[in-house]
Amino acid sequence: MSHPKFGNLINGKEQPAKSGATFFNINPADHRDIIGEFAASNGDDVNQTVEIAKKAFASWRLVPAPKRAEILFRAANLLVERKEQFARDMTREMGKVIAETRGDVQEAIDEAFYVAGEGRRLFGVTTPSELPNKFAMSIRVPLGVVGMIAPWNFPMAIPSWKLFPALVAGNTCIIKPAQDTPLSTLNLVRTLMDAGVPPGVVNVITGFGSKVGTPLIEHPDVRAISFTGSSEVGSIIAQNCAKHFKPVSLEMGGKNAMVVMDDANLDLALDGALWGSFGTTGQRCTATSRILLHKSIAKEFTDKFVARAKKLKVGNGIEVGIKVGPQVNESQIETSASYCAIALAEGAKLLCGGHQLKDGPYAHGTFFEPTIFGGVTKNMRIAKEEVFGPVVSLIEFSTIEEAIDIANSIDYGLSTAFYTKNVNQAFTAIRDLEAGITYINAPTIGAEVHLPFGGVKQTGNGHREGLGSLDFYTQWKAVYVDYSDKLQRAQIDNAE
Ligand code: NDP
Repeated sequence: MSHPKFGNLINGKEQPAKSGATFFNINPADHRDIIGEFAASNGDDVNQTVEIAKKAFASWRLVPAPKRAEILFRAANLLVERKEQFARDMTREMGKVIAETRGDVQEAIDEAFYVAGEGRRLFGVTTPSELPNKFAMSIRVPLGVVGMIAPWNFPMAIPSWKLFPALVAGNTCIIKPAQDTPLSTLNLVRTLMDAGVPPGVVNVITGFGSKVGTPLIEHPDVRAISFTGSSEVGSIIAQNCAKHFKPVSLEMGGKNAMVVMDDANLDLALDGALWGSFGTTGQRCTATSRILLHKSIAKEFTDKFVARAKKLKVGNGIEVGIKVGPQVNESQIETSASYCAIALAEGAKLLCGGHQLKDGPYAHGTFFEPTIFGGVTKNMRIAKEEVFGPVVSLIEFSTIEEAIDIANSIDYGLSTAFYTKNVNQAFTAIRDLEAGITYINAPTIGAEVHLPFGGVKQTGNGHREGLGSLDFYTQWKAVYVDYSDKLQRAQIDNAE
């Protein structure tokens, strides 16, 4: 059967990988459905693209930031027009249910409007000089060519968090999407070109992790790397960047806890638990993967949660009524299955799910049952390691101190949720939970683009997307203007 071919997007034009190599992108709900054949690039493609992006930087950095922002504003409007088609493309290539892929495109729209506003707000700081007739200020300047490496679970939203602030700040960009989701990133970048981003300013190189990623990281003219993905790959990338003294922003895994106190609104917590655990088939960095239950409500919550999870309709996310789509690929299914085996071997109790779905409508896709384990304790691997699938653990506690200790007892620190009606306990949780994000009476998922997004411990290396992203995509330059017409020596001429 014939299927479309997609090249890299370099200098405003699609072109195949220099080697001619390609890979297939298939629908995880139905592997017979081939989305297309995409360029499998390597270092030669990267080298050519860096040259082009470097050349484009020479003029893009001189475009006034409010003008760069106007292009993003136009891109936002185009994304609004294209939202439905892009959402459908995304569900087809990575499986999320259509309501969620509409949300993914919407996040890119929100990010574009938000960042477009920043074009008139690239504030620096002015400050008095310690010397007379001297003016002191600090300004933000772009870095140059920035390399970006993205995961598959938010294939339009995450690239938008990286590309838009980098562009408004005057950088040029080369992005490598995950091999499972090249189409959504091509859709996004084509929209940027249609909105008026000049050729060479944003480029997409598709292909396999290290084949594209490593030459991008190691190229001396790539001035910074922004990565979102697993902590394992993030660690490799950080070590490689360190060798080249290259700034790197890392957004990585999570093992996010929802705490349900004894006074919580249980129905609200149940709604949040279902959405947080099984939204995006559990394949979110912010997915709820541990639910910490106060002993006094644990049984009631567990019974209701399991009953509701069993009713969730699993299937092709494009169909009406489906609540849980497929996992993105076979390897993710294997990970979910292997963690179920680990949990059972550790003594956890399987309360529902636990298996791949293979029959009938599931025969041609990668589907896994919504899965809940009870009787989990904080030191089990199922309570500590990221599964990235529809698998959630229930852990009981007796006091808020114990709950916070369990929530914090992991290597990750991305998102947390705390359900209570007690304001004192809520503020204690806000203060003490070790995470980049804490929700009170809302699930662990649901970040908004104009707040800082990122995590502590092994989730990140201190940078933030959303609010804070311009701190990564610009560097400070201190500027002194001496209008005294004489040599003034700081710390010497003005010393007492
Ligand atoms: P991976 O770490 O496997 O891949 C992320 C990206 O890195 C992909 O584009 C991948 O390419 C590329 N890559 C893989 N190996 C290398 C390498 N050696 N050098 C350079 N690049 C490489 O993550 P997933 O795509 O599987 O995404 C899931 C992970 O992302 C989860 O751990 C999740 O928690 C995390 N994540 C974190 C978020 C956050 O903001 N904190 C948000 C979303 C996800 P390829 O696809 O070709 O393998």
